[in-house]
Amino acid sequence: MSAEKLQYIVSVDVYNTAKQLPADEQTLLQQATKIMHAAYAPYSNFKVGAAVLLENGKVITGNNQENAAYPSGMCAERVAIFYAGAQHPDIAIKTIAVTCEAEAEQPVTPCGACRQAIAEYEQRHNKKIKLIMATPTGKVFCTNGIETLLPFMFSSKYLKK
Ligand SMILES: [Zn+2]
Repeated sequence: MSAEKLQYIVSVDVYNTAKQLPADEQTLLQQATKIMHAAYAPYSNFKVGAAVLLENGKVITGNNQENAAYPSGMCAERVAIFYAGAQHPDIAIKTIAVTCEAEAEQPVTPCGACRQAIAEYEQRHNKKIKLIMATPTGKVFCTNGIETLLPFMFSSKYLKK
């Protein structure tokens, strides 16, 4: 007896350069790059910047904040989205741009914990978030919704009675 296969199709839009993005998304990526340079990453030397565009047009930026006690640090994405959630709890997140210093072939993507945090904000406002992931000079990957990066995610529906 063979198992039924459930397959996920991952759909990512890939651009060779950020210049192919709409002007507002290029600006968001530039804001992520600007804040990236101010990251506190003395241990990894891997600086990451994130810019969160809210539905009301406001942009919140964040960068990674490391700590000598490593787990006490925080990723750029969560620094930005938690601030957005704290300061603008009723406003949905429209787009998140993430960039890093490394000029890798594949752009930086949010870690598992950040993917879960992004999923929570999608569920909180019942709205998919567009992700723009890039290196400063390299390719840009875009997804519409976190499910592309986090299939079979844990969600609040498991906690409801
Ligand atoms: Zn992360």
